[in-house]
Amino acid sequence: MHVAVIGAGIIGVTSAYYLRQQGFEVTVVERHPGVAQETSFANAGVIAPGYTAPWAQPGMPAKVLRYLFKSEAPIVFRPSVDPAQWRWLARWLLECQTNRFRRNKARMQRLAFYSRDCLRALRAGHGLDYEQTQGYLQLFRTEAELERAAPMRAVLKEAGVAHALLNAAQCRGLESALVEGTPLAGGLHLPEDETGNCAFFAKQLKDICAGQGVRFRLSTAVERLEVDQDRIGRLRLRDGVMAIDAVVVAAGVDSVRLLRPLGIKLPLYPVKGYSATAVITRPEAAPMISVMDEMYKVAVTRMGNRLRIAGTAEIGSRRLALRDASLGTLLRVARDWFPGAAAYAQAQFWVGARPMLPDGPPLLGPTPIRNLHLNLGHGSSGWAMACGSARVVADLVAQRKPDIDLEGLTLDRYLRPSK
Ligand SMILES: Cc1cc2nc3c(=O)[nH]c(=O)nc-3n(C[C@H](O)[C@H](O)[C@H](O)COP(=O)(O)OP(=O)(O)OC[C@H]3O[C@@H](n4cnc5c(N)ncnc54)[C@H](O)[C@@H]3O)c2cc1C
Repeated sequence: MHVAVIGAGIIGVTSAYYLRQQGFEVTVVERHPGVAQETSFANAGVIAPGYTAPWAQPGMPAKVLRYLFKSEAPIVFRPSVDPAQWRWLARWLLECQTNRFRRNKARMQRLAFYSRDCLRALRAGHGLDYEQTQGYLQLFRTEAELERAAPMRAVLKEAGVAHALLNAAQCRGLESALVEGTPLAGGLHLPEDETGNCAFFAKQLKDICAGQGVRFRLSTAVERLEVDQDRIGRLRLRDGVMAIDAVVVAAGVDSVRLLRPLGIKLPLYPVKGYSATAVITRPEAAPMISVMDEMYKVAVTRMGNRLRIAGTAEIGSRRLALRDASLGTLLRVARDWFPGAAAYAQAQFWVGARPMLPDGPPLLGPTPIRNLHLNLGHGSSGWAMACGSARVVADLVAQRKPDIDLEGLTLDRYLRPSK
């Protein structure tokens, strides 16, 4: 059976891997000349299942309003005339209710923990090295921030996630590169979380897939999916057609455009974010552990001989243009904690669009069209959920029961919404 995967971001490449493991003939179709060229290209690299949570959470609407006119804001909202934006926001506001937040977070965490196990097994099986680091340290500049983290700590405890609340001295003991002088009230250490270079991983996995017979049709855009009676019969490509038996759509934010003509209308919206990558010039001044500055929601991660600094959630503009204020915030945070660690002045900047659904969890597996499957909408946690999502989707295509409960992780939640 020939399965096509549309999109070679982290979600498409992992899908191809697990589909091949199930014995399918697999072709990946990607419009760029290489894999992981869009949102999976230069993200923060964090895999923190205990922290995986929807963007729609209680208190978030007030936060968005508070930041509305601040240039250094971690959350930027730009009202536009795009009706899709307002539809998305209306649904997002609904999902900020406490009961919905709890339900959505539980769904995401179920998948994220499973995904971490899948990633670890895959890494061990192939001896992969993708610049991974171990542990995650959330930094609180003020006592007020520290106190606001109390509910999160309770959630971690309830979920049995290893964590420790540290005072400033303990934070500096754990990560000796943290500079003295920048106000630090304390930190939350998650020793089992990890980070890694998502794009580097995707490239290595692509080579493994290719070695196992997966075909990659790069520089090839899918124009539409052609229905033959009640199934997808062909992919219409810019330069011809491709006959397929089944298809997995993993096209990130552009999945909407491919699915709309088939009657599948998804409230998927791009939420932009930025990163800066700078070569480490003083290794002793650069962090070994990945840190997250809670005030600015900026993560600083060592990736080999470079520092990756990433953050900002910006909704409102579909144009992937760099925004000076956000880039300035990234560098400011890096310099606050790790001054002189890297060649910040020569940093390379990047902007990406998180494929975000208003409630949070991605959409995996079946659609009303029987040979059409989804693997999309991973928002700000696509790297953290990639391996698990891909394995679940491959199981579903193979008509096998996935290892985890799929409640709330399929298109059903939009077709047959519950309260
Ligand atoms: C600043 C920032 C920081 C982030 N940090 C983290 C983090 O720390 N941890 C984490 O887990 N996640 C993080 N994310 C989110 C993560 O990067 C995304 O969830 C993930 O990359 C989405 O992967 P994807 O494969 O769905 O999308 P993409 O990587 O965008 O891949 C989709 C692919 O489909 C292709 N495509 C689309 N349409 C077509 C077509 N018609 N024909 C052919 N090809 C097509 C595109 O070219 C693209 O290559 C971050 C995101 C941003 C922006």
